[in-house]
Amino acid sequence: MKELIESLFVRTYGPLCQSKNKGLNPLPDFYRQNAEKFGYVHYGKGEMTALETYSCKQCGASDRERLYAYWLRAKQSQDGDCSRKALIHFAPEAGLSTFLKKTALYGRYETADLMMEDVSHRVDLMKLPFGENSYDFFICSHVLEHVDDDAAAIQELYRITKVGGGGILMAPIITDLPRTIEDPTVKDEEERWRRFGQNDHVRLYNRFGYLERIRAQGFRVELLGKDFFGRKLFNKLGLKASSVLYVVYK
Ligand SMILES: [Zn+2]
Repeated sequence: MKELIESLFVRTYGPLCQSKNKGLNPLPDFYRQNAEKFGYVHYGKGEMTALETYSCKQCGASDRERLYAYWLRAKQSQDGDCSRKALIHFAPEAGLSTFLKKTALYGRYETADLMMEDVSHRVDLMKLPFGENSYDFFICSHVLEHVDDDAAAIQELYRITKVGGGGILMAPIITDLPRTIEDPTVKDEEERWRRFGQNDHVRLYNRFGYLERIRAQGFRVELLGKDFFGRKLFNKLGLKASSVLYVVYK
């Protein structure tokens, strides 16, 4: 009863720092300014990025990190003991990585990235040095829009995942884009800003194109949105109503 009453007064909740009513910060204005400067026309049209409620005031976690942390914890209470399971986290977000280490949701937790210094494995996602069926679960968020050959990267993720395992596989999705646009040959940073909305992105997905590419490598995809999590939770986590969590299974 106490919890029920308490929950009525929670306006914002931070699943990584367990904070209540600490509030959320907007996305830094830098992105809007650059969109204007370079003529990027899809600013603010992302399926997920919550412009006004982007980061947790308490711990700095982004909207997507909050959703992943919430879902991973809920998944664990359903899956039970994961102390013998292995999770690999690509391009690990600092807040989420700290959360996963602290909570030890998975017995084995490893990190991987091409550029970052402080990771378990320095790897290229398009050519991973791991055996088949090595990991029970992976997190690969906002990486695919950076790699030249995303099909090769998805194929590698599929290969290293155990049968019956899966992952959180996310990329920025532009909701009203008629088709995925890409050009890894564009190296000029201003041109990348103009076309893809960031200096190191090589493509912009629409939802259909994204799903098509994931499924082509064999993954089954689950789309978990507002209907799954509920409007109330979405509001507490400060998520944009159109946000979708893409979970893939092998
Ligand atoms: Zn927080």
